[in-house]
Amino acid sequence: MDNKLITVTSPLLPDLDDFTAELKKIWDSKWITNNGSYHKKLESALAEYLGVPYISLFTNGTLPLITALQALRITGEVITTPYSFVATTHALWWNGIKPVFVDIDPATGNIDPNKIEAAITPKTTAIMPVHVYGKPCDTRSIQEIADRYGLKVIYDAAHAFGVKVDGKSILNAGDLSTLSFHATKVFNTIEGGAMVMHDAKTKQRIDYLKNFGFANEITVVGPGINSKMDEVRSAYGLLNLKQVDAAIEARCQVANKYRDALCSVEGITFFDDMPNVQHNYSYFPIFIDAAKYGMTRDDLYAKMKTENVLGRRYFYPLISEFSTYKGLESATPENLPNAHKMADSVICLPMHHALSDEDIKRIINIIKK
Ligand SMILES: *Cc1c(COP(=O)(O)O)cnc(C)c1O
Repeated sequence: MDNKLITVTSPLLPDLDDFTAELKKIWDSKWITNNGSYHKKLESALAEYLGVPYISLFTNGTLPLITALQALRITGEVITTPYSFVATTHALWWNGIKPVFVDIDPATGNIDPNKIEAAITPKTTAIMPVHVYGKPCDTRSIQEIADRYGLKVIYDAAHAFGVKVDGKSILNAGDLSTLSFHATKVFNTIEGGAMVMHDAKTKQRIDYLKNFGFANEITVVGPGINSKMDEVRSAYGLLNLKQVDAAIEARCQVANKYRDALCSVEGITFFDDMPNVQHNYSYFPIFIDAAKYGMTRDDLYAKMKTENVLGRRYFYPLISEFSTYKGLESATPENLPNAHKMADSVICLPMHHALSDEDIKRIINIIKK
């Protein structure tokens, strides 16, 4: 039996000859970073593709989170979710902000708006939700609470590239949204990221902040960071943008095949598409009910591994379980029952544009056996 390794993800790569042709132009121009022409082109192409008014490129998806908190001068306490990649909470920590974890809605994996109010204190200044697996948060309820209490909302939209609700980009929700273009994401620039904002003034401010605070050659308007995307990765991104729709369509087909095959497996559940949402199929999490399935999540995960199929327990452990955050009052399992349940039952199945029917069959057979 063919037992080749199936990885959980595989990067979308531009055609090498096309990329080399762009490299030649960059070499000739000798302009390799600092807001060059490819950087500008990628920003406008992404704003148009995503359906957002303004976007600023970053060198990864973590620095826009850190910079967003700086730009809005967020201090004190911020309400967030433990069910995410650890960078979400690290961004708060790097700003000297205390994370306050709120439990998730088991129907979506996203922060439960009904539990946010109880976590608000006089020190609360913002809410930082995550569109987990690219599934849109209940942005309307979150905004209502934020407006009532005068809080800012920063969305970690690292998973939500291209996701739309009622035909409109989810990235327009809240005060600011951030994206990651890491190699493992739906759209990648190898490493990279971006911030989405509503107005030109904010974009200008963010562009200063990601370039040390320089407003011009001799004026530094604030304590900025260096998080500029270079020309090489901007050119790579422009090429990948041309094929991202096809990649998302291929992912959609994979999701449909998983769903058709797994809907009849006792003890395995997964998310359905949400009405009025254009999904990006960035992940395919399944949830294992050990009693009904007859095997624990970790045993299935290990079994897949012995058959050379790599799943990922994403997100396990919860951020609130890591040593940095475990001591926080809000980090207790009693405060976060739904997040713990999801973290203890999840496996993200291999999901990318290049999975073959054979690959999918092999994965399904392991789970069905
Ligand atoms: C990938 C990811 C990040 C970090 O992005 P990098 O580009 O790897 O820095 C942040 N938040 C979430 C939810 C992510 O999945």
